This record gives sequence, C-alpha cells and structure tokens, in this order.
Amino acid sequence: MAKGAGKVRKKLPKALAVVNADNCTGCEACIEVCPVDCIYKVQGADLPTLQSFVDIDLDRCIGCDLCERWCPWDAIEMVKPTMIADAVACKGGPADYVAAKQDQLNAAARAIQDLAIEAAAAAPAKK
Ligand code: SF4
Ligand code: SF4
Repeated sequence: MAKGAGKVRKKLPKALAVVNADNCTGCEACIEVCPVDCIYKVQGADLPTLQSFVDIDLDRCIGCDLCERWCPWDAIEMVKPTMIADAVACKGGPADYVAAKQDQLNAAARAIQDLAIEAAAAAPAKK
C-alpha cells in the first residue's frame, strides 16, 4: 500500500505534540531536534504582542517526543490522538495568531481525533 495516499494517514502515533503557547519562548530547541521538520516558528512580525513561539503541523508529527524531551520550558505536551482536538483548542497563543489560524488548527486536530476514535472502535486494544 502506498504510504502517503491522500492527506489522511492510515496509522496514527500513540501521541502527538502540542505546544502550550504561553510557556513557549521561541528558543527553537524543538525545531532543531524534530526529525520530520513539522515544527514551525511563528514570526513576530504579525504578532506584536509576543516575541515568538512555535507551533506544530500535526499531520506530519510522528510522535517521537524528542521535542517534549528537549524543550527547556516544558512547553510541549504529548497528547493521545483521541484527545488531540481538545488539547489544540486549549493550547492558547497570541490573539492575532488564534484569530488567523485556530479554526484551521482545530479542524486538523478534529480530523485526527475522529480518525483515532474510529480506529479505536474498529480494533480491539492490542499491544
Ligand atoms: S513529537 Fe517528534 S515528530 Fe512530533 S513535533 Fe515533536 S519532534 Fe517533531
Ligand atoms: S523548545 Fe519549547 S520553548 Fe523552545 S521553541 Fe520549542 S516549544 Fe518553545
């Protein structure tokens, strides 16, 4: 089977990374260690109220948790895909960014969560 057929992946990691924007200093330590380059810096130009911070493209996160382990500010949480939509909806961030991006981020997280819930319902828990 082809690996990246379409946008929805067939297998989800056990957990996905979510940045708590209030704790993030934009130090970029997580960006340096992420093996799939799915963490992106939100530049301050559009965010006069904040120095900078990062966010994560959940569709590409493989759940390796390197970013969580390297973050000096404990700003990253690993969240089960079945709970990812709530975590993303509550992760915060500067008002400009939330206004511009939160709907899109919520929709991506909800799609992942729905997929995870469907998968959990379809397959009995296995090790
Ligand atoms: S869990 Fe791994 S893949 Fe996901 S954002 Fe963190 S470093 Fe990148
Ligand atoms: S390592 Fe932590 S504080 Fe630094 S940019 Fe990443 S999430 Fe923000």
